[in-house]
Amino acid sequence: MTKLDNALWRDMMDYLRRRHAPICRQWFEELEPLELNSGLLKIHTSNTVQQNYLQRKCREQFMEAAQATTGLLLTVRFVTGEEAVASAAAASDAPAIGQAAGGGAPAPAPAAPNISAAIPQPVRTTPSQPIAYSSSSDDDAGFDQIVISPDYSFDNFITGPGNQLAYAAAVAVANQPGTAYNPLFIHGGVGLGKTHLLQAICQTIIQKQPGVKITYMSCDAFMNQFLDCVQKGQMAEFRNRYRHVDVLVIDDIHFLANRERTQEEFFHTFNALYQLNKQIVLSSDSPPNEIPQLEERLVSRFGWGLVANVSRPCYETRVAIVRAKAKIRALDIPDDVISYIATKIDTNARELEGALTTIQGHAALQNRPIDLAQAREALGETGNAGGVSQVTLQNIIDAVTRFYNVKLSDLQSKRRHKSITEPRQICMWLARKRTRFSLEEIGGYFGGRDHTTVMHSIRTVEDRSRADSNLAQVLAQLDEQVVSGRSV
Ligand code: ADP
Ligand code: MG
Repeated sequence: MTKLDNALWRDMMDYLRRRHAPICRQWFEELEPLELNSGLLKIHTSNTVQQNYLQRKCREQFMEAAQATTGLLLTVRFVTGEEAVASAAAASDAPAIGQAAGGGAPAPAPAAPNISAAIPQPVRTTPSQPIAYSSSSDDDAGFDQIVISPDYSFDNFITGPGNQLAYAAAVAVANQPGTAYNPLFIHGGVGLGKTHLLQAICQTIIQKQPGVKITYMSCDAFMNQFLDCVQKGQMAEFRNRYRHVDVLVIDDIHFLANRERTQEEFFHTFNALYQLNKQIVLSSDSPPNEIPQLEERLVSRFGWGLVANVSRPCYETRVAIVRAKAKIRALDIPDDVISYIATKIDTNARELEGALTTIQGHAALQNRPIDLAQAREALGETGNAGGVSQVTLQNIIDAVTRFYNVKLSDLQSKRRHKSITEPRQICMWLARKRTRFSLEEIGGYFGGRDHTTVMHSIRTVEDRSRADSNLAQVLAQLDEQVVSGRSV
């Protein structure tokens, strides 16, 4: 048994910041290395949400950094609670790797992590449920569950005239699930913070009531599981799984549109939970009565609690959002760049964040600091770059088909193999970002898909690029090619 000395740990974190900037967060500074045993490096993190997120979204990058800086074949595991206490105790007398050989002065031991704060977190006892967090890393087999991002907290949510009510209701529900507003129904356009608020509710409840059973999933996943269970004749399991939770949170419930059988099942799930005063939280791109072909009885139930809208952020809110996102990423970004982004992009927070990612990726690619000239270039305003409206679908097709070595006919086909879906989703993301085509038009072009599929594709690309720095680099590169009209 050994441990990692301070200098090596710093090198490892520097490596991550250099090579995987998009995944790095300010709170990574609180992580601490514990014991190193049989090629496994345990890293302390302060709560289960962070632990689960790191384990699922960042483990590979940490492993790469650990191997690159120590020269050892290491794996990493993020630990919290009792496991962290035991590891810290075990490591307390161990020699540190990285100390000068030959009896030089030993490097100072890493400061003892403040583990006491983590002790009260009980280990989940129902790992087979589709919960979005757990102390175990591999309990999600078969479940398409959403991993909660520590970024999506109430603290990181910027309020303004367009989202004040939704925010206040979400906080009330998180503090008193089942009593404040039931159900809480948050609706609004893409990128306006619905998922953020849902995850903030989940995080807060998890922290306040560590043993609580929360099921948090996308409507897509709910429908898929339902169909799967119908096919396998496992409806009893399905009902048991969903009707015995304390809090049910379903994102993008508008996907229930036109799904009669799933609506029927969801109706019964809703009733069962509602009667037991269990909290239900839903998000949607439109209010209940505007979801196409939604059964009347569901429309009325969705309105029983509070229906709150999120709408476009005003300029001040946009500035605050960009500032907050830069801070979370520990990104040094001048004020004039912040106001440039907030002026140029007036649609939603997702696009503001996308612009920030593009600027960050462009700066890394060109090895330049972020400043106004660089930001303008990154967003396609100077040099050879055409304005937003000048990018054509052909520019996008050219760049993506060459990079991925796929044919346009594949992108326009119904094929769903990953080798095709990934470039197709990236095309949709680029088309949305760089052209003025509507979601319907983009979906129509790429194989007659509807606007919800396009929205889903765009979200998938954004979610993945946040966690996968290689993909973020590829996107920045393709984006640059598309904007400048160059081909690879
Ligand atoms: P939606 O679910 O409504 O499509 P998301 O919740 O996924 O939107 O938000 C998209 C991105 O914008 C996320 O990174 C989220 O953190 C950010 N975001 C949205 N609204 C806000 C806000 N008011 N304050 C801070 N970040 C926000
Ligand atoms: Mg969402």
